[in-house]
Amino acid sequence: MMINSQQSSAKPDENDLCWYCKKNPADKRFAASIPMYNVTGGDYKNYGTVRVKKINFQRIGVAVPRCESCQRRQHVIDVVTRVVTVIFFLVGLIFVGAATGYAFHIIPYPYDPLNMAGILAIIGVIGWIIAWNTRTILNVVLSAISPIKPEFYGSTSPAVKKLLPQFWKVGKKPMS
Ligand SMILES: [Zn+2]
Repeated sequence: MMINSQQSSAKPDENDLCWYCKKNPADKRFAASIPMYNVTGGDYKNYGTVRVKKINFQRIGVAVPRCESCQRRQHVIDVVTRVVTVIFFLVGLIFVGAATGYAFHIIPYPYDPLNMAGILAIIGVIGWIIAWNTRTILNVVLSAISPIKPEFYGSTSPAVKKLLPQFWKVGKKPMS
């Protein structure tokens, strides 16, 4: 790449820096994409006796400046997130499965089988709740204890913030 002396001596504009580490120059090829949507209207549609609310919305991906090393780290976070999700889903499955076994006397238990089933079911459901929220939990933990910012941190970037007053919201689609 050719860099002329004028450019390299100039202080880089904040947009040219990676938004995540704020150290490395951003590389267009590794830009993050933050999904945003904008509700453009909506109405009710009748399907026989069922009334369904239809929401129309536009969506875009807002490019956030990112460097190659942050992209790579976020990819690792992504893989870890998936693995942790699968582990906690299986933990939930095993515990709820065992709870079912005790409750229906498939697994013999000398004391109160329903008591045992209740405890196991609670642990299993907690496992599923963690599995369902792994991404959020890891994002919160990582941003508290490490300087590595998850991809979602891009939603605090100026590119995203400048769209907020124009009714754009961060996310893939409206909640309801
Ligand atoms: Zn970076």
